[in-house]
Amino acid sequence: MTGDLLSGVTAPPARVRVQLPLLLPEPYDYRVPGDMSLVPGSYVEVPLGPRRLFGVVWADGDWQGERVEERKLRPVMRAIDLPPMPEITRRFVEWVASYTMSPVGAVLRMAVSVSAALEDPRALTAYTRGEGEVPDDLRLTPARKRILEILSDGPPRLAADVAAEAGCGTGVVRGLAEAGVLTTVPMLALPRFPRPDPDANPKTLSGAQRLAAEDLTAKVSAGGYSATLLDGVTGSGKTEVYFEAVAAALRTGKQALVLLPEIALSAQWLDRFAQRFGVRPAEWHSEMAPPLRRHTWRAVAKGEARVVVGARSALFLPYPDLGLIVVDEEHEAAFKQEDGVIYHARDMAVARAHLGRFPIVLASATPSLETLVNAENGRYSRIDLPSRHGGASMPDVTLIDMRRKEQAPPARQWLSPVLREALSQTMLAGEQGMLFLNRRGYAPLTLCRGCGHRLQCPNCTAWLVEHRLSKRLQCHHCGYQAKSPDACPECEAEGSFVACGPGVERVAEEVATLFPDARIAMMTSDTLSGPRALREVIEQVKDGAVDLLIGTQVMAKGHHFPMLTLVGVVDADLGLAGGDPRASERTFQLLHQVAGRAGREERPGRVMLQTYMPENPVMQALASHDRDSFLAVEADQRRQLEMPPFGRMAALIVSGEDEGAVDAIAAALGRAAPRDREDLTILGPAPAPLAILRGRYRRRLLIKGPKTVSLQPILYDWLTRVEVPASIRVQVDIDPYSFL
Ligand code: ADP
Ligand code: ZN
Repeated sequence: MTGDLLSGVTAPPARVRVQLPLLLPEPYDYRVPGDMSLVPGSYVEVPLGPRRLFGVVWADGDWQGERVEERKLRPVMRAIDLPPMPEITRRFVEWVASYTMSPVGAVLRMAVSVSAALEDPRALTAYTRGEGEVPDDLRLTPARKRILEILSDGPPRLAADVAAEAGCGTGVVRGLAEAGVLTTVPMLALPRFPRPDPDANPKTLSGAQRLAAEDLTAKVSAGGYSATLLDGVTGSGKTEVYFEAVAAALRTGKQALVLLPEIALSAQWLDRFAQRFGVRPAEWHSEMAPPLRRHTWRAVAKGEARVVVGARSALFLPYPDLGLIVVDEEHEAAFKQEDGVIYHARDMAVARAHLGRFPIVLASATPSLETLVNAENGRYSRIDLPSRHGGASMPDVTLIDMRRKEQAPPARQWLSPVLREALSQTMLAGEQGMLFLNRRGYAPLTLCRGCGHRLQCPNCTAWLVEHRLSKRLQCHHCGYQAKSPDACPECEAEGSFVACGPGVERVAEEVATLFPDARIAMMTSDTLSGPRALREVIEQVKDGAVDLLIGTQVMAKGHHFPMLTLVGVVDADLGLAGGDPRASERTFQLLHQVAGRAGREERPGRVMLQTYMPENPVMQALASHDRDSFLAVEADQRRQLEMPPFGRMAALIVSGEDEGAVDAIAAALGRAAPRDREDLTILGPAPAPLAILRGRYRRRLLIKGPKTVSLQPILYDWLTRVEVPASIRVQVDIDPYSFL
């Protein structure tokens, strides 16, 4: 044999396929320079046209399909020094792309959502309060005040983190530094992720809790795929139980992921975790400051972060050894992402556990029908925690029939006499009350008394909502804001606008008049400027510095207030209108959750629901604590209609700025629909309920079929039959949850 052959000169130059985080279905081919060694999963920097992009090596030279000519290949520019993206993550990205009918690159973008994560960490500037005097001429705006408070103790912090916590822009932080009020220091080390200690501070579990925990820890230790529904009333200790599963994952050297519906609102949860495991977990959510995001991403990829708690996007992080996923409040609609890649994080989490062959736990006091049906037919196993920890009883629920004269509140007020009386008794007893209305702002609709003109969003089919606290009108769909006008734009009458219906601000106003001495706190996304503000209100309620709490769904979740004994729901019927097939289920879940805030310790709680439809099955189920019969009826109806989870459904949403063009494409899709198949039902095209959103016209089509049919290939075929111009967008929503 000759030396030539041994040195391999006849081997073709190495090439790789690199998937880029762009709306591309396929990886691109690149040449590997001789001195570079790459494997599938390697992170690389490559040229694309005049740009340089980060991407992931998707496959090496041996693949099926067309090969780009050798001489056209451009070289990989740089290999990045990080552990390669695990194969499971790459397969998961592909699986999600094919399930949601999105380009692989669009899903990959979620997995490397911080392209800059691939860069080496830069030197960062941190801010501290230092010794600087506050000059007399510096106006102390609320944002500036909050920043000074945040930095008054503790270590130096990044501008982005401080700004996020203070609810302002980073410019305000920098401005204070320029004014000499803050001092800058170079930040060398970002927070590290010490290992949570599974034995730091375990609680003694009750009998039922222990059995549940043993079941889960056995599954985690053994490994292998399993899905378990952890079904237990609010306050039964589900969190304590799944913490034991997390501990088991830590003991077996696995990473664990806990998905929460709204991580930005989970201050109490983080404290509990730190209590149980000695350190805080790694957090992952969209409101994180970019440097911290980048840093956390790398810590997960390197396996340094052992437990991640996050919102839905945490599912796409490149965990090298994930061994458990917990989805808490698995029924929450917030797990459905409605923009970009449209996916349901709970369902994708189950797929991720299946691919990775490890257990997943779905926890809820009001499981979704989807999950309950899976538990009934044996695809998921099920653990029940039937009672509240420490023997606290479930609150007593009464329905207030608002149709009856004696229950009617005075004109332009919203609380019935019984509810007023109950609030007053509660406060006299030194206990706390809570009023829930899932409607931000002062009033949902503002109209002119003179001509009936309604204030509408210029970009959406929606009314503008008056926010009196901020003196502005807001669109809750696109974020449009305007000053409340002094005169009607239609008839020019001055001061003629009247507010119709209640929002939380209006209820707060009523309560302040009724109980002038009560200490009232608001809890809405408008009144809380960030996690710190939320934490403050929570502390005040816990310390007994608040008598009455008024808020929206921000208030409904997770919080544990020992002295809270009365929950009043101002409009229990609110979620039942509209064309959402899950309206009843969702209303039940939300109201059950709100009701669960009452009487969580020794003092018994009560819940009052103001309703115009007390005979509605949702109200009846809440009053009789009979979730299961309600869900059985709900399930029967859906089964008959072949609605999910008994059938499959997908939506096509056609949108664009030119109404005629949108209609033409929607009609063409309507004509091209697979109407010849008897097992499929096609509805539409019809204007979406939000027929104009953010200035775009919208039409919807819906396809429904039996559980045994996979809709994706049908949709694929359907979509290829219509040519869609670039100005029109057609979004595919598999398993739609939003019908707006
Ligand atoms: P869930 O998640 O089901 O709503 P939690 O886990 O939040 O219930 O428990 C409700 C409250 O009871 C929490 O304050 C929790 O710390 C407490 N708790 C639950 N189980 C125990 C236990 N075994 N020992 C001590 N406290 C417990
Ligand atoms: Zn709008």
